[in-house]
Amino acid sequence: MTPQEILSLVKQRNPNEPEFLQAAEEVIVSVWPVLERNPEFVRLRLLERMLEPERLISFRVNWLDDQGNVQINRGYRVQMNSAIGPYKGGLRFHPTVTPSVLKFLAFEQVLKNALTGIPMGGGKGGSDFDPKGKSDDEVMKFCQAFMGELARHIGHRLDVPAGDIGVGGREIGYLFGAYKKIKNEFTGVLTGKGIGWGGSLIRTEATGYGLIYFAEYMLQEKKDSIKGKTCLVSGSGNVAQHAIEKVIQLGGKAVTASDSTGFIHDEAGFTQEKLDFLKDLKNKRRGRIKEYADKYKCEFHALAINHEENPLWNIPADCAFPCATQNEINEKDARNLLKNGLKLLGEGANMPTTIEAINVLIDNGVLYSPGKASNAGGVATSGLEMTQNYMGSNWTSDEVDSRLHGIMKNIHDTCLAAAKEYGKPGNYLIGANIAGFLKVAKAMQAQGVV
Ligand code: NDP
Repeated sequence: MTPQEILSLVKQRNPNEPEFLQAAEEVIVSVWPVLERNPEFVRLRLLERMLEPERLISFRVNWLDDQGNVQINRGYRVQMNSAIGPYKGGLRFHPTVTPSVLKFLAFEQVLKNALTGIPMGGGKGGSDFDPKGKSDDEVMKFCQAFMGELARHIGHRLDVPAGDIGVGGREIGYLFGAYKKIKNEFTGVLTGKGIGWGGSLIRTEATGYGLIYFAEYMLQEKKDSIKGKTCLVSGSGNVAQHAIEKVIQLGGKAVTASDSTGFIHDEAGFTQEKLDFLKDLKNKRRGRIKEYADKYKCEFHALAINHEENPLWNIPADCAFPCATQNEINEKDARNLLKNGLKLLGEGANMPTTIEAINVLIDNGVLYSPGKASNAGGVATSGLEMTQNYMGSNWTSDEVDSRLHGIMKNIHDTCLAAAKEYGKPGNYLIGANIAGFLKVAKAMQAQGVV
């Protein structure tokens, strides 16, 4: 077998699933040297088995909108791999959700969760439901209908979903309430819960904070730091907000944020006060990002994402943190970043950079971290939330934050060690893929052909 043969097999089995095939190709190429060293992994077809979900559940979700009209959505849960622990991974509510998107996210999640060092398998789920423009009552009714089916497939020792795009604290609350009602039990079946009913301090902040801790560790390798660095951030949701917050706290300057309507460029940089305005705008009032530009008299550019070339990535900066969605940086964007002197790109979103763009960055010496390593702080802290739920106790912010620091450092060092061992020193992409793959592969090997 060659990497191309495995990829064409995966293509045959998963036609019309471009996002899943993109994620699969990146990993197949990266982990090939591991298979060459371990013929037993090839015989057991561990990579091909990892690329096949253990279970893919698809279901109808019916609910009544505020006008009494019947609405129909699709719900999904992809239970990708449970070799090292219960399935774990977020729920995404967005019109672009398809089996392909969820399978790519679930596959990435398997390797990411393995990197955290916490015993969690990988899964992902969601719906094509769009919470945008819906009333709180409609979101609640949808969440209750969605959980009406999902509840039979999840459990605190079986599969523990969390948030993702379109699923924040409000949605987790409604989903948890519905699960508790259906099952008549109070367990840590979801993470990202509210403080006071099983949630963990720092879970909300963890993905964005962890991303910047990871970037700081990468820069430290080069005797450098975030301090004084100009940073581009895309997105304005959970991950983007807390990445910006940590950049501010570490003395860097975050100058952009975006949503699906466009991006703002604030040359003076975010302050905590401006960020608080953004948080209120996005989390409470659920408004559009242009309001930020109107308030702080800075530039607004319409339609930032999914264009041939995104002007956000053509702003001179030292660091870039894509924190919105998949494939938001293409080869042209990468060349623009490079031309403007970029030193580091840390992925906050999952797969925000195309394969071609990644190659441009790595080949030109930019420090690049894949999301499965640098955004793993979120799921790691979800793992800490699960531990606190099992123990029936709560840790302080400092305790969780210091564990988050330790986990990000450990992932960083694990990636570097694996990259070095396989002859690609400093390549975080190859390091992350190999280290995550090895952990899951060894567990699958030990557990037999099941
Ligand atoms: P949110 O829903 O809180 O925010 C998402 C942001 O990205 C919004 O600003 C949204 O704009 C924008 N966005 C989403 N989809 C699109 C699209 N198709 N085109 C343009 N803009 C888009 O999500 P999160 O911050 O939680 O997630 C962001 C990324 O981080 C995702 O890739 C997610 O998988 C990843 N991630 C999240 C983790 C978490 O803990 N939350 C953990 C690890 C990874 P708008 O408001 O207009 O929709």
